[in-house]
Amino acid sequence: MPATETKPGPAILPAITQANQGFWEHARRGVLALPHCRACGHVWYPPSPGCPRCLGSDVEFRAVSGRARLWSWIVMHRQYLKEFPPPYIVAFVELKEGPMLVSTIVDSTAEELKCDAPLEAVFEPATPEMSILKFRVANK
Ligand SMILES: [Zn+2]
Repeated sequence: MPATETKPGPAILPAITQANQGFWEHARRGVLALPHCRACGHVWYPPSPGCPRCLGSDVEFRAVSGRARLWSWIVMHRQYLKEFPPPYIVAFVELKEGPMLVSTIVDSTAEELKCDAPLEAVFEPATPEMSILKFRVANK
């Protein structure tokens, strides 16, 4: 069964905060950027005001490769939110730079997916200020 494209409505979009503003500014331009600690070099996700490793506050957003691997996934068959009609894929993605995050996979069915599949980041505009990070299988 093919995964359905989802488009989150404004009601469920996260708030843009001082801590995540850099992420959303890059995402709007189709660039995946993560917080980077200038003191210790740590890169992490989700964005937070300070470095979770050294607790430093000298943080900047830097573009990363957008490359990742599929760590695991599930298919949601039940509708919990009207903005997410089932079926849809919830994927655990490991970025090349290390952080893991939860996202979705587009342009593939769940049956086509394999653990460790190479992924690339894609962005889907949701509002003029926000584009949503999703992934697709690279070199498909
Ligand atoms: Zn640090």
